[in-house]
Amino acid sequence: MFNLILFGPPGSGKGTQSERLISKYGLRHLSTGDILRSEIAGQTPLGMAAKSFMDKGQLVPDEVVIEMISSALDNNPQANGFLFDGFPRTTAQAEALDKLLTQKGTSIAVVLALQVSEKELIKRLLNRGLTSGRPDDSNEEVVSARITEYEKKTAAVADHYKKYDKVVYIKGEGHIDEIFEALSKEIDGRNAV
Ligand code: ADP
Repeated sequence: MFNLILFGPPGSGKGTQSERLISKYGLRHLSTGDILRSEIAGQTPLGMAAKSFMDKGQLVPDEVVIEMISSALDNNPQANGFLFDGFPRTTAQAEALDKLLTQKGTSIAVVLALQVSEKELIKRLLNRGLTSGRPDDSNEEVVSARITEYEKKTAAVADHYKKYDKVVYIKGEGHIDEIFEALSKEIDGRNAV
């Protein structure tokens, strides 16, 4: 399998690049943000519980997202690899993911970390809010809260994978095609695990 984490702050382009990477490499896209939004749209109890955190720009509790990912892995036994987008977002989630993958006899091949300045992130997120209909993109306070959560809790996930020498930083500003090329080059240079 080839399992990859696309890492980076909110607004760094993970969603855009994920779409292209999954079609080029035939990976299964697992976005916790997308799964949570579809739970909200379906008005499930999980969705309703998650919404109160998401609307404030806070992370949803670890147990909830770990369980979601665990079922998604079980539901896709044929996948030849996964692209994790927006997960793991805490060290506890990273440890849980490593354990789940080990149980399946595989692991993370690489963490590709998109780097974008904070000024550019805020600009992109508020701009996306004009058309996306995402409540968490439409309010500057919520956007800032998400970036603060990222710095406080999520940045540490890169440190976790640095211990295993799996993190590669990619400049996330510039042309979408160029960023995609840079990401692809890193994937092409690695073996499945
Ligand atoms: P973005 O990266 O643009 O902020 P996402 O779509 O990945 O957007 O996530 C939106 C929201 O969903 C987050 O602000 C958070 O509340 C919740 N969320 C998504 N993934 C996770 C996760 N792995 N752990 C906790 N909360 C999550």
